[in-house]
Amino acid sequence: MVETSGPESTPTPVFGPDSEEMLRCTRCELRYVPSKSTSSLRLTYCSFLCELGDLGFSIAGLEHMEPQPKAIEAPAVEPEQQPTEPAIVE
Ligand SMILES: [Zn+2]
Repeated sequence: MVETSGPESTPTPVFGPDSEEMLRCTRCELRYVPSKSTSSLRLTYCSFLCELGDLGFSIAGLEHMEPQPKAIEAPAVEPEQQPTEPAIVE
């Protein structure tokens, strides 16, 4: 019996410093690891500061406080309700 197949040296797969895929921040365009992002939108921003700077508010903050209104919205126009006059029976 002749041993034909020797121990093959499997090439070690090349990974980055983190095996996790890195994303690029939408605001500051820095590469970051999503799991290390402090933003609620960690797939979009590298940190909550970018989220805060880009959106003007933080998603996490919405649960506790409301964003400052940019403009006073016009009051919702109520549909004109024609008063249903009761039929006057004389
Ligand atoms: Zn960023």
